[in-house]
Amino acid sequence: MNEYDSNRIKDFTRKIDYMPTNDLIEANCYILNTCHIREKATEKVYHDIGRLKKKFRDSIKPIVLVAGCVAQAEGEILLKREKYIDAVIGPQSYHQINDLILALEKKNKSINFSEFDVVEKFDNFNSLKNSSNKISSFLTIQEGCDKFCKFCVVPYTRGPEFSRSVKELVLEASQLVENGAKEITLLGQNVNAYNFKNKRISDLIYEISKIKFLKRIRYTTSHPIDFTKDLIDAHKDYSKLMPLIHLPIQSGSNKILEAMNRKHTIEEYLEIIHKLRKINHNIKFSSDFIIGYPGETESDFEQTLKLMSKIRFINTYSYIYSARPGTPAAHLPKIELNEAKKRLIIFQDSAEKIKMQYRKTLINKKSKVLFENKINNENKYFGRDEYFNSVIVKSDKNMIGQIKNVKIIKINQNTMFGEIVSNLNQKSYAA
Ligand code: SF4
Repeated sequence: MNEYDSNRIKDFTRKIDYMPTNDLIEANCYILNTCHIREKATEKVYHDIGRLKKKFRDSIKPIVLVAGCVAQAEGEILLKREKYIDAVIGPQSYHQINDLILALEKKNKSINFSEFDVVEKFDNFNSLKNSSNKISSFLTIQEGCDKFCKFCVVPYTRGPEFSRSVKELVLEASQLVENGAKEITLLGQNVNAYNFKNKRISDLIYEISKIKFLKRIRYTTSHPIDFTKDLIDAHKDYSKLMPLIHLPIQSGSNKILEAMNRKHTIEEYLEIIHKLRKINHNIKFSSDFIIGYPGETESDFEQTLKLMSKIRFINTYSYIYSARPGTPAAHLPKIELNEAKKRLIIFQDSAEKIKMQYRKTLINKKSKVLFENKINNENKYFGRDEYFNSVIVKSDKNMIGQIKNVKIIKINQNTMFGEIVSNLNQKSYAA
């Protein structure tokens, strides 16, 4: 979502003649867009600002803005501690960024823009064409969260759930396709909680799938309690919808899910998986896990391992629990760090084995790959298959923006290598 926001900030600041630059020392204004989900996010901001200070030691200081969820959650602290920062701006105030920059040009110091005005933000963004021209583009359809999981800062940094209108989203999706996008990932903190005047995400997918040159649709991140029948059916009805579903579970223990306030049980989660597999047996799943949540016993952890082996997620994102300031779980007694680390290693080893076993089944099979870019100056192209696996092939022909059948020859942990098996007269080989 920060990538989407950063692109929109670029579109917006062009209105006051601020253009993006790759040459840092040229910059008149430096905007650091931050994420508060990971540990030590605030420290990373100070670290980045330190590097910036060094770089500009002998030059005129640029305007320095900290944007994003760190600005929202800890803006006042940042401004007090680091005088090099001129202003902070929260994610729901980006429509005011130009006023902020113009005010700072006039040397109005220490400004904190962190109101929740998401309606005005998108009204302002809608007035500007989205200039992103990536083959695979993001489209924020929903922001905020009403779920209040006890470990998470999102409800405090992004505010309550808000959905953009179907009309404005179809228009923006069409702009992205006009710019060259072949794949659109619909984004939201609770993407499947999307609800605009009773239009759900399934309705939106239907509308967007009508866009002629759009080939693929994905969405992330979903919450199990919003996985309603219409969305399950969408995976049967709309061929542009990709068969990989990222559905965070966090833990395999009902006791821990309750302690986290996840609002669903393991049994309900498994029921969703079952229904999805029933309507389309090709669907596969990825998920997020928090290891070592306060109160997690050896037996809770065993249940997490069991769940992972049962569902056989093809990809997982796992972290040791770390407290976020201001969240209810931050006050709970933590489990011993060494024990949490040990569990994380066991979990990740097991997840990796499952992933590699799955990937081995793809060797010598055909995958449909959408090519996104060329790798440096080599005749190699990077793309993704329907399950979001990275694939590299060699080709003398430009394949950017095309979907090709690729025979997978070789795999490693992060990438698969293959050769084009149809659609091209000339064969291409993996490096
Ligand atoms: S549902 Fe997701 S975004 Fe909302 S509080 Fe829980 S983890 Fe955070």
